[in-house]
Amino acid sequence: MLLEAERNAVVEFGNKMVASRLTTGTGGNLSLLNREEGLFAISPSGIEYADLTPADVVVMNMDGQVADGQRKPSSEQNFHLALYRKRADICAVVHTHSVYATTMACLHWEIPAVHYLVGFSGKKVPLAPYATFGTGELARNVTASIGDYNAVLLANHGLVAVGNNMPTAFAAAEEIELVAQIYYQTRCAGAPKILSDEEMDPVLEKFRTYGQK
Ligand code: 13P
Ligand code: ZN
Repeated sequence: MLLEAERNAVVEFGNKMVASRLTTGTGGNLSLLNREEGLFAISPSGIEYADLTPADVVVMNMDGQVADGQRKPSSEQNFHLALYRKRADICAVVHTHSVYATTMACLHWEIPAVHYLVGFSGKKVPLAPYATFGTGELARNVTASIGDYNAVLLANHGLVAVGNNMPTAFAAAEEIELVAQIYYQTRCAGAPKILSDEEMDPVLEKFRTYGQK
């Protein structure tokens, strides 16, 4: 079986996505790239995460062809592949329909630096224009909007978070959901004070070395 470790990670973090309430049912999808092999493991389309086994995970090459696996790959294979092609630092993609990030996406609001944890994305979370799920147009909108950020809202749809490994991409999806909830609540209660670029600069610097070596 190709990319066994990557397939296991897709199963593990797919289940974490449900346990952390970042998605429900068969919503969302995730993938992990092995750049040396030029292959990525991606969740299959329309299968509940609790039912997923490593053999259900599909392995694709950088031309978008299935290299191993019997299942149909995620309908969002286009934006997963497009992100891996666009940025060499991206090796994991996590797509969720988490409630508050999706609320922002349905309002067409970018998420500003309302809390320093927006640094998991950058100085904000940008918004990609709406396109039908699973289309090449959506993939183009995602890659055009993400820039150097590590998260992007998909208008009227959800969130995509990226990282150089699966725990990092997953953490970005989780922390941006928290920031989206805080932004929503502070906007409901009043006028949140947004951190300036100068206040975010040292946060992004400290994030480079945050945590254990
Ligand atoms: P898949 O089950 O095909 O991955 O689709 C879920 C989804 O979130 C589409 O945007
Ligand atoms: Zn989706």
